[in-house]
Amino acid sequence: MSIGRKEALRLLKKGELLELGRMADSMRKDLHPENTVTFVVDRNINYTNVCLNRCSFCAFWRREDASDAYVLGREELFGKIDETLELGGTQILLQGGLNPSLSLRFHMDMLKDIKRRYPAINIHGYSPPEIAYFAERSSLTLRETLAVLKEAGLDSVPGGGAEILSDRVREAISPRKIKSGRWMSVMREAHRLGMKTTATMMFGSVETPEDIVGHLEAVRDLQGETGGFTAFIPWSFQPGNTKLRKQMKVKHGQATAVEYLRVLAVSRIFLDNVSNIQASWVTQGLKMAQVALRFGANDFGSTMIEENVVASAGVSYRVSKDDIIQAIASAGFRPAQRDTRYNIIKYF
Ligand code: SF4
Repeated sequence: MSIGRKEALRLLKKGELLELGRMADSMRKDLHPENTVTFVVDRNINYTNVCLNRCSFCAFWRREDASDAYVLGREELFGKIDETLELGGTQILLQGGLNPSLSLRFHMDMLKDIKRRYPAINIHGYSPPEIAYFAERSSLTLRETLAVLKEAGLDSVPGGGAEILSDRVREAISPRKIKSGRWMSVMREAHRLGMKTTATMMFGSVETPEDIVGHLEAVRDLQGETGGFTAFIPWSFQPGNTKLRKQMKVKHGQATAVEYLRVLAVSRIFLDNVSNIQASWVTQGLKMAQVALRFGANDFGSTMIEENVVASAGVSYRVSKDDIIQAIASAGFRPAQRDTRYNIIKYF
């Protein structure tokens, strides 16, 4: 049974931790009675690190003229995909920054070249800020932009750039980034074109519990309309090397383990129409991700053969596929590799 905004807020603020875990775990069991915890083998490929948005919470972006600014060439790109396939990967997460020197044609050619060479790989690519930027630069609608990207080979869209879907928070932490309504519009149009997407939420910066619940409500409402979200991924702000950390005047100002679990559990309970909730081992580490499996998560996300964005903030948990399998099994679940659409490929 769905809970409302008021109850979600009460649980987030005052719910007893273990009771929240029990409620979220019971819901996970109802949705996934087979006791399986899934993961996808993929690689993050950041095609460029140049980004006009310069978000204060991000340590990855560079100016166009920075000595370490880059755009990946085909050889390097293909080399990364070859390695992904050798490791049993089925998907690449293709994301970059808002780089003014790259046209929509560049992206279409990149997608086509990948698909020509690797027809079976799922291209999970371009978060809503990138797609909205391509649309604006090309004077196309979001729908037209997504349609040409899809035609060129884009299979699904990651939910990055959602941060908190509150324009007050966005104004404070990423004023140049698209506003909440635009993020939702990209997702709505992608879903209408038959593409699946994920939704994320980055919390632990300057938001309030009300903002978090508002975010969950926006995702639940759009899911009710389109059914296009495969998963929800809450993760906490990683302050290392970021401007926001200085603005917040904190040394290690980030969500605690308990705050992470509370948000995760309330996400599971509130988002009753989203099947999958991912644990974020990239930001929390494998041990916390194991605990997360008793607070509503049923998926370990990606093996992340390569991850640059969170690593730029100084957070780097290096784990192998075997580490993930072992972590899931020792937490009492059956590990399974899945594809982008959550079809099981292999049990372990
Ligand atoms: S978070 Fe994304 S949009 Fe913001 S600066 Fe980093 S790469 Fe650019």
